[in-house]
Amino acid sequence: MTSVNRAIILDRDGVLNENCSTYVQNPDQLKIITGVPQAIFKLNQANYKVLVATNQACIGKGIISPDTLTNIHKKLYTEIGKAGGKIDAIYHCPHKNEDNCNCRKPKPGMLIEAQKQWSFNPEQTWFVGDTPRDMQAAKGANCKGALVLTGLGAESANEVTDNPHFNNLPEFVDFLLKV
Ligand SMILES: [Mg+2]
Ligand SMILES: [Zn+2]
Repeated sequence: MTSVNRAIILDRDGVLNENCSTYVQNPDQLKIITGVPQAIFKLNQANYKVLVATNQACIGKGIISPDTLTNIHKKLYTEIGKAGGKIDAIYHCPHKNEDNCNCRKPKPGMLIEAQKQWSFNPEQTWFVGDTPRDMQAAKGANCKGALVLTGLGAESANEVTDNPHFNNLPEFVDFLLKV
């Protein structure tokens, strides 16, 4: 029997850290949203695999290097770790829109890849994002989508009518864990 993990997938910018209109280009520009590390810790405690799926066209555009992205993610791990929290994996799409890859959201490629690696049941798995394209990616992967109003969420809330809205990731996590 294949073991099935309990998992949650999170967008990065606007969900874990403040959205940056000109991309997060170095670790100093990564500003973690209040309460997020503690929320991740709660997910870990409840036995959720915590996965991140993020579009980073800034790599394809040559604005940052893959090494810089690695350093930005080291800071993300460190900041989450300050509350005892752990991210299990980060998937990123480095491509530009014109590259027409299968991973750039709204396409579901990263979520499908995550499902293959972590063998969760997509229909029981939430993808939390702050844009309509996150909700489209969730739908394309047969996952449940939830919109948070941090990042670009507040300005895209009107366009997202098929998914529940939460003020921020900590509120979503409390809903999920029913605390
Ligand atoms: Mg986002
Ligand atoms: Zn891609």
